[in-house]
Amino acid sequence: MAERDCPKCPFSPMEDIVAGEMTLDECPKCKGRWYDFDELAKVVTDPAAFTAAVAKGPLRPRQGTAKCPVCLEDMMNGGFGNELLRVDQCAGHGLWLDANELRLLNTLMAS
Ligand SMILES: [Zn+2]
Ligand SMILES: [Zn+2]
Repeated sequence: MAERDCPKCPFSPMEDIVAGEMTLDECPKCKGRWYDFDELAKVVTDPAAFTAAVAKGPLRPRQGTAKCPVCLEDMMNGGFGNELLRVDQCAGHGLWLDANELRLLNTLMAS
């Protein structure tokens, strides 16, 4: 996998970490994590709902403050499957969770 920079910290490559069945990119500085949709799809409890949320794209999107580490396009900040679950996300690649947003993943995986 090519080295990916943290979307939030300039010039900070992320590190591969293994979490259960997923390999994620984590920023050693801010501890935020990048989740590829295809990685997430393997671990969510409801793959159909997850696929639907990906297909819908960000709900009530606003311009995000970070760039997708894969395509380097600006990400949108919006709800993922739920308007209250706002995260930075790239429609084609995945989503970014700041360290303090990691708990959102439980919501995501439980919904
Ligand atoms: Zn960072
Ligand atoms: Zn992207």
